[in-house]
Amino acid sequence: MIALVPVDGIDTKVFNFLKDSLKVRFEREIIIDSGVNPPTHAYNPKRSQYYATPIVKFISNSVKGYEKVLGVIDFDFWVPGLNFIFGEAEGIGGRVGIISLTRLRQEFYGLPPDTNLFYERALKEAVHELGHLYGLVHCENSKCVMHFSNSLRDTDYKDSHFCSECMEKLKQLCFKRR
Ligand SMILES: [Zn+2]
Ligand SMILES: [Zn+2]
Repeated sequence: MIALVPVDGIDTKVFNFLKDSLKVRFEREIIIDSGVNPPTHAYNPKRSQYYATPIVKFISNSVKGYEKVLGVIDFDFWVPGLNFIFGEAEGIGGRVGIISLTRLRQEFYGLPPDTNLFYERALKEAVHELGHLYGLVHCENSKCVMHFSNSLRDTDYKDSHFCSECMEKLKQLCFKRR
């Protein structure tokens, strides 16, 4: 069972979309958790951003009892060495990951809203982080959902699906042991 955890209350529509799509991708029951508030110690006022690593740790400590947990947040976050990130996982094969919706909206870049594009991007980031949690590493294939997104252009270029090689690995890692 995979739990989606809203951090600080988010638009429920995007959760229902992710719930239905991820259920098919990972052949798991998806639960939308009641959610958590972001830990204030993770906020850096100088950067106006949250530090991703303590948020992952915080969710890991507060949300128990699920095979995998994906926090969904709607504020910008970063990790040292990168100006911002779209998502972060506890590690390859870890239990908890997070994605941020903030930079996935056209409005963030001063463009008119595009709901379908926004949902598609959210799905790609969610599948990518869950892929890590199920043991997949980054993929060289720029069309594969496991390709690292350095920018939104990379996210838009890649598919929301796994390439055949990653799919093979996922079958071994995710679908065999229940
Ligand atoms: Zn990644
Ligand atoms: Zn791949």
